[in-house]
Amino acid sequence: MDTPADSSDVRRRNLALVLRHIAAHGPCARTELAAATGLVSASITALAAELIGSGLVREAGLASSGSRGRPRKLLELRAGRVQTVAVEVMPDRLAGAVCDLSGTVTWRGERVLAAPGDPRPVAEQIAGLVQEALEATATPGRTQVHTARLVLAVPGAVIEDDLIADSILLGWRRIDLAALVRAALPAGSCPVSVVNEANMAAFAEYHALASRTGTAPRAFAYLRVGPGIGGGLVVDGQIQTGGHGMAGEFGHIPVAFDGPACKCGDHGCLVTYLGLEALMRAAGLDPDLHDQDPERARADFDRRLRAGDPGPARALEAGARALATALTAVSRVADPEQVVLGGHLAAWSDWLVPTVLRHFAGRRAITPTDEPVLSTELLGRHATIVGALRHGCETVFNDPASVPSLTRP
Ligand SMILES: [Zn+2]
Repeated sequence: MDTPADSSDVRRRNLALVLRHIAAHGPCARTELAAATGLVSASITALAAELIGSGLVREAGLASSGSRGRPRKLLELRAGRVQTVAVEVMPDRLAGAVCDLSGTVTWRGERVLAAPGDPRPVAEQIAGLVQEALEATATPGRTQVHTARLVLAVPGAVIEDDLIADSILLGWRRIDLAALVRAALPAGSCPVSVVNEANMAAFAEYHALASRTGTAPRAFAYLRVGPGIGGGLVVDGQIQTGGHGMAGEFGHIPVAFDGPACKCGDHGCLVTYLGLEALMRAAGLDPDLHDQDPERARADFDRRLRAGDPGPARALEAGARALATALTAVSRVADPEQVVLGGHLAAWSDWLVPTVLRHFAGRRAITPTDEPVLSTELLGRHATIVGALRHGCETVFNDPASVPSLTRP
């Protein structure tokens, strides 16, 4: 239920409005901010002073007002005032990165996991990687950098209070990773968020597509096959997590009632047709190779496919029919204008997409205009970390008052 906004809520929202405009369109004059936001100029003056006080914005030169009037002072984003740290937790390793408020990446690092199945040592390794990142980016002269947030992207369902409800890939159930990492970091470290990794990839691909085409789809779906099948739904710019953190878990959409048994306990899930292990089985290749060395299995499948071996092509034909069925279900529920395919789906899109489009064509008689446009991912394997960094920056854009005022030297 909505509650009445008090004056501090209104101020925070207006600060967010002004900061977002400066970030997207700066350098810009206060008069331009007033026109763009609908706020009166006295409010813009006060809000700009507050943003300058917290170091998020600075004055950057003058713009001519034409023949009459004084030149106007311009405001621009001070991207280096804030940084966000993100760590992607994979079954065998960690990948970390740091970015400033403009999204510019200032550091990247990796660590091999020493004890992947055990959350506590993983949390300690995450804390170690974060400390390394903060030390590497703490250059002299940048002493007043505010670390806004640490975002942990994990392969699993995350429920609202940052608890990992379930991760088949990590073998974790009901793990409070944020609390474990906080305990391993020095006291007073930045806030920690835990998010689903495929949702972050979806968020990054959504923004990459929007900036390439100049328009953001209202509803957007991203579907990726990698070690598992995952994805995300973005509606009106917001990642949809659902009631249990399971929204966008496209891999477990049932596409056949009596299909193969799935690790989730159901039958006929999309992953049982389109997961790499299922594709290898359908292609007549040794599915054990997938367990031993998934990367070699993928490369073997790819090489045979491109060499014209009918087995992998046949497997992808069946996988594409399953994908078309799942995408039809997604379209009926969420009606995305754009569906982006990632991971193996992007690599093998030449084999998959024609079959999917043929399947869609069969429905055009009743739904001629509601097909989603299919395309392949723009960011590839960096999408998760880019999305997680962006998610961290969003917490500042949503609430610039969370950044403290600059202290005078
Ligand atoms: Zn399943």
